[in-house]
Amino acid sequence: MLSTMQDVPLLVTRILRHGMTIHGKSQVTTWTGEAEPHRRSFAEIGARATRLAGALRDELGVQQDDRVATLMWNNAEHVEAYFAIPSMGAVLHTLNLRLPPEQLVFIVNHAADRVVLVNGTLLPLLAPLLPHLPTIEHVVVTGIGDRSVLDGANVRVHEYEELLEGRSDSYDWPELDERQAAAMCYTSGTTGEPKGVVYSHRSLYLHSMQVNMAESMGLTDKDTTLVVVPQFHVNAWGLPHATFMTGINMLMPDRFLQPAPLAEMIERERPSHAAAVPTIWQGLLAEVTANPRDLTSMKQVTIGGAACPPSLMEAYDKLGVRVCHAWGMTETSPLGTMAHPPAGLSAEEEWPYRITQGRFPAGVEARLVGPGGDLLPWDGSSAGELEVRGNWIASAYYGGASGEPFTPEDKFSADGWLKTGDVGVISPDGYLTLTDRAKDVIKSGGEWISSVELENALMAHPEVAEAAVVAVPDEKWGERPLATVVLKEGATVDYTGLREFLSHSIAKWQLPERWTIIAAVPKTSVGKFDKKVIRQQYADGALDVTKLA
Ligand code: AMP
Repeated sequence: MLSTMQDVPLLVTRILRHGMTIHGKSQVTTWTGEAEPHRRSFAEIGARATRLAGALRDELGVQQDDRVATLMWNNAEHVEAYFAIPSMGAVLHTLNLRLPPEQLVFIVNHAADRVVLVNGTLLPLLAPLLPHLPTIEHVVVTGIGDRSVLDGANVRVHEYEELLEGRSDSYDWPELDERQAAAMCYTSGTTGEPKGVVYSHRSLYLHSMQVNMAESMGLTDKDTTLVVVPQFHVNAWGLPHATFMTGINMLMPDRFLQPAPLAEMIERERPSHAAAVPTIWQGLLAEVTANPRDLTSMKQVTIGGAACPPSLMEAYDKLGVRVCHAWGMTETSPLGTMAHPPAGLSAEEEWPYRITQGRFPAGVEARLVGPGGDLLPWDGSSAGELEVRGNWIASAYYGGASGEPFTPEDKFSADGWLKTGDVGVISPDGYLTLTDRAKDVIKSGGEWISSVELENALMAHPEVAEAAVVAVPDEKWGERPLATVVLKEGATVDYTGLREFLSHSIAKWQLPERWTIIAAVPKTSVGKFDKKVIRQQYADGALDVTKLA
């Protein structure tokens, strides 16, 4: 028997209409680096998104399914693109401006982008690539920046504001199929070529509802969220779309992502929420330790994208800022888990829950798979690879303009679950604790050592700024941990002292023998520890390693 309920498509267009009317007064504030930030209401953003869609269709000839790329910072214009492009039936393709040029070229060509919207400040990055991007016909430039670098390029160049000027504030938005492509994002490609994940209107809509829920980020129109996570990193974790559902104001840093301006914008604009990877929060912590600022407006900071060291969480607790740890991936839109403790616990009892990766929302099903392919119990101790499924989880990768979507065996199970490549345990009440990426686990004499556990323990040392641990070959044990450590200024601790410190919380056989002090941990394009670079540096003999007896 079928239901008697309506079946209205879940479209980004509906989120746009809702945000610009019901929450028309909410604001997107963009940092300018000048005395005053720039402020634009949701109503204005909506009107301008409508004009942008008209211009893209009428002036540039953008049609349904065309890929329109953005090479932009987090700002109001980027939010306009987030709504205009999917709502008109085209596909928003956010480009990661920190990728090496050859990867950007690969991605744009693979997606066959026709148009790119670019911040003027990023033209020096785009211009040299254009000769290698034959599918790009139009470049639309917004904001400050020297346009002359585009002289001679084989594309039509448009000014964003000129395109919008004098256009109609209405657009006959198409009634799309909710399963149609709305946006795409490529994985950061730590192994092999980047792979494209294509989000549907339906997946973005459902994901946005989850982001807003109290058990996730808990966003309401009384609040402001600082969106540090870039709009090119999994749709800024879903925030621009989610905010238009609930009317929470957005504070956008544009290109001012350094710790000092971030500290200033938090103190001045007093956001209640924020989201970014641990590296950003480490940097901000060092900044406010040296130059104190009031961060206490932030009542929920989401830290995810990489393991958040408990010591970092503790440091923010002391500053009066509540951190919530979260896990996700490009393939999961990205919201997978968030570490809100269960109800009714004391602060002390909450702590062990808060340092997990968190629990799964109703929309994400999870299972743990052991090395032999058997399903493992949720007992808090059986470790296996995490697999997930749900309505905002990818079922395949984009195959290119003429190719079919593809499902590599190491990423998708035969019965359609996403293999995350993350190894961990799940407690009986559904809290996930990740011990490693499958490829980062240290396999020592047949036993596993968690690189994340060693890193967290090291970063709890008061003189350690950052630490990354990787597996290196060892004649006797197969693999052993190599600890690479960034010390704080003026630190006096030596390797023996660090090892002694670790021995308080880590089993003796897991303690690293190999140590090296480095200036900074290499980072990926989205600010995570880049362990493959460290492994390579070690293999090349580029690190000055001390081996303790
Ligand atoms: P990306 O698709 O680039 O966002 O990378 C996703 C991967 O980042 C995941 O598969 C995890 O390995 C890692 N990751 C994300 N969040 C966390 C977290 N809270 N703790 C540990 N690893 C994480």
